[in-house]
Amino acid sequence: MTAAEPWVVAVDVGGTKIATGVVTRSGELLSRVVVPTRAAEGPEAIRERIAESIAEAIEGATATTEAVAAAGEGQNGQATGMARGHGQGDGRSSLAGQDGRGHGRRWQPRPAAIGLAAPGPMDTERGVALAASNLGWYDLPVGPVLEERFGCPVYLENDANAAALGEWLFGAGRGAVNLIYVTISTGIGSGLVIGGRLYRGKHFNAGEVGHMVLLADGPLCTCGQRGCWEALASGTAIARDARQIATAFPEGELYRRCGGDVTKIDVPLVAEVARAGDKLAREVLDQAIRYLGIGFSNLINMFDPDVVVVGGGVSNLGEALFGPLGEYVARHTERRVKEPARIVRAALGENSGILGAAAVAWQELGDGRA
Ligand SMILES: [Zn+2]
Repeated sequence: MTAAEPWVVAVDVGGTKIATGVVTRSGELLSRVVVPTRAAEGPEAIRERIAESIAEAIEGATATTEAVAAAGEGQNGQATGMARGHGQGDGRSSLAGQDGRGHGRRWQPRPAAIGLAAPGPMDTERGVALAASNLGWYDLPVGPVLEERFGCPVYLENDANAAALGEWLFGAGRGAVNLIYVTISTGIGSGLVIGGRLYRGKHFNAGEVGHMVLLADGPLCTCGQRGCWEALASGTAIARDARQIATAFPEGELYRRCGGDVTKIDVPLVAEVARAGDKLAREVLDQAIRYLGIGFSNLINMFDPDVVVVGGGVSNLGEALFGPLGEYVARHTERRVKEPARIVRAALGENSGILGAAAVAWQELGDGRA
C-alpha cells in the first residue's frame, strides 16, 4: 500500500478571471475551474467567489480521479485514482484517499495548503492583500478567511513572484539557484528568486523592474514618472508607438492593415507587418527590443543570475524577440561574465498562474526545493 499523496489547491486571481486547480507535488493539474472575477461586485464578493471555486476544484479533482480509478479497475483491478470518501467530510471540501486496494495512488483527504496569487503587494506573513487596485483589494484579509473555511494553511503571493516560483519549481527555471522572471504584457513585472528563495523586500514590493527609469524625460508612465522600462518596451508601449506611426503615415502598411482604426493595432499585428518587411513596423519593434535589451542587461549585471525566464504576451513573439534580445544582452554583459545568463521563454503557458500559486504553497510547506 502506497503512502497517501499530498495535494494543494492553487488559485490565480486576475482582473478578469479566477483560475483554480488541484495540483500535485510534481505539478500535475488534477482539476481546473475558471470563473469570471466580476470585480465590480466588490472585494468581499470576489473573495467569496474564490472560496466557491476552491470547493469546486476539489470536487472536480475527486470526480477526475474516481474516473481514472474506475478505468484502472476495469482493466487490471488496480485502482489508480482518488476515490471519494465514503460518508467522510462534507463532500465539498474533502478528497478521501481510496482505501488501500491495489498499487494505485492514494490521496490525502484534505488539501495540504492553498496557494493564492493575485496582483499587487501581498503581506505574506499576515495573509493580507495590501493593494490590488483592479480587484478593489486594499488591506483585505484573504488568507485568514480562507483558512477558517478550509481548515488548512493559505499562502498569498504577488502574481509575478508566484509565476517566478512556478517557473523555478516546474518550468523553464528548474535547477537554477538564482532566477529572474520577467513578464512583459500590458506592463513589465518581475519576480526574483535569489539563493533559492523569493526576494520580497521590506514592504513586499521588490521586483518592480517595470519602473526602472531607462530614458530620462522619456514617455509618461502610469506611475507618474517618465521613461520607465514599461513605458518604453511593454506591449502597451509597442502598440502606442505603432499607433502614432500609423497615424503619421496613413499611406503605410500598418494603417492599411488596421483599416484606418489605429486602436486595433496590437503587438501581434505589429510583428506580422514587420515580418512581412514593413520598415516602420520593424523600427517600432526594434526600438522596443533595444530597450528590453538594455533592461535585461541591467538586471543581469545587477544579479548575475543563472537564468532569466520571460513570460507575458510579448514573449509570444518567440524567436523574433529572443534572437535579437539574446544578441544584445550578450554584447552588453560579456565583459563582466564569461557565460552570460540564459534568457529563455517561460514554459508553463496558460497554466503559469495556477502552477505559480501551487509552487508558492509547496515551497511554504517545505516540499519545494531549497
Ligand atoms: Zn513607471
